[in-house]
Amino acid sequence: MLQDYPKHYCGLFGIFGCPEASYMIYLGLYSLQHRGEESCGIVTSDGEELYLHKDMGLVADVFNEDNLKLLKGDRGIGHVRYSTTGSSLVKNAQPLFVDYLGNSLAVAHNGNLINSEPLRKELERAGSIFATTCDSEVFVHLMARSKETDVVMRLKRALKKIKGAYSLVLLTEDQLIGVRDPDGFRPLCIGKKGDSYCLASETCAFDLIDAKFVREVEPGEIVRITKNGLESIRFAPKSEKSAHCIFEHIYFSRPDSIVFGETVHLVRQKLGANLAKEHPVEADFVIPIPDSGTSAALGYAHASGIPLELGIIRNHYVGRTFIQPSQRIRDLGVKVKFNILREVVRGKRVVIVDDSIVRGTTSKIRVKNFRDAGAKEVHMRISCPPHRHPCFYGIDFPSAEELIANRYSMKQIQEYLGADSLGYLSQKGMLDAVKLCKDKYCAACFTGEYPILFSNADKYSLEKSSKC
Ligand code: AMP
Repeated sequence: MLQDYPKHYCGLFGIFGCPEASYMIYLGLYSLQHRGEESCGIVTSDGEELYLHKDMGLVADVFNEDNLKLLKGDRGIGHVRYSTTGSSLVKNAQPLFVDYLGNSLAVAHNGNLINSEPLRKELERAGSIFATTCDSEVFVHLMARSKETDVVMRLKRALKKIKGAYSLVLLTEDQLIGVRDPDGFRPLCIGKKGDSYCLASETCAFDLIDAKFVREVEPGEIVRITKNGLESIRFAPKSEKSAHCIFEHIYFSRPDSIVFGETVHLVRQKLGANLAKEHPVEADFVIPIPDSGTSAALGYAHASGIPLELGIIRNHYVGRTFIQPSQRIRDLGVKVKFNILREVVRGKRVVIVDDSIVRGTTSKIRVKNFRDAGAKEVHMRISCPPHRHPCFYGIDFPSAEELIANRYSMKQIQEYLGADSLGYLSQKGMLDAVKLCKDKYCAACFTGEYPILFSNADKYSLEKSSKC
């Protein structure tokens, strides 16, 4: 088995009033691929009907000239997904698409709802039949049940009942809608390409299609985009507090994106610089674990004065379907994604920098790889604090028992990894690297202080409840 975790959760894109909408969404999704590699989908509209194509697989595998041509119209939404709720089945691929009362509606969701299980039970008791095991489907059912006539009013009604993390893009025949939950857990940005508005999880999607970043959708805001332009509607009051996911900066978002008002690469550099101040060590080289540790390693190198070197090279062509028929092939498979530059590291004292340790499995292999290649000393530095608590808002961390830092002391982790020293960035050092103040971020995976209370924390709870 490749020791990497299944990657990421979801990415969203939407555009209105653009002649080649399906191609723009396709490109947008391409740049958001890192947010979900399991399935993807696009829904477009020409003002009369909605057109859908979705499947399991990467954007480049699912879409082609033929199916993009069939996605007609000048508006649409797209989604890339890794399942954090509901398992990997094509029926769970998004956007979700429904017809009700003579209207069509497509919805794509990034985040995790924390009260979806009781809501789903309530809806099922009232006669709703669910087509997926995604928590996102409750949006659709709640909207369909509302007595309001306007789609945004229906949405507002539905949102009153929902708790958790959600950035959403929705499409009807004549409207593109963007929503961000009142705490602003996940990012969602507004861009403009000529006269067309677009929405995306990350600004790197705007860069690819030559759109300009306008602003973020605010927490608690709905933006409705029609041929008359953009209308902002609040469904929750503006608040001094928010709960932006700090892990977007540490790991998830692309370094070239602006997230929560800051360029991710620069935040990561600062994380690395703070790490160097907190955990200095004498060494010959600073070596990033590609790609997640690159920006922080650069920051560590600049701040410490130790030269940055490439000691590990990543193969970018390793798909999720790497064939592993036997143990012998599996053992070799561990190395398929990375190779060590032996001549660079042999006899050297190296500081290897990565963004995080979750279970510790891959980090242990990396340390061993450097030792096998002849490194004299291997020092591990991590650009965030130890992960001790699971995330209920959309990031796929395992249960608390599986998180290595929850079970072991620093000394024990260092011994398990086989490193000569180990240093994690402190919570203070982490929060110092971002401009917004402490109460604007959710750092629950480090602190255990959950900004909103939860009742269904189990990733597969919807599947269980739908079976009984
Ligand atoms: P491990 O040593 O097995 O805990 O793996 C650490 C690696 O996993 C680091 O390189 C991280 O960049 C990466 N990582 C951290 N969080 C996640 C996540 N939620 N999903 C996938 N990979 C992750």
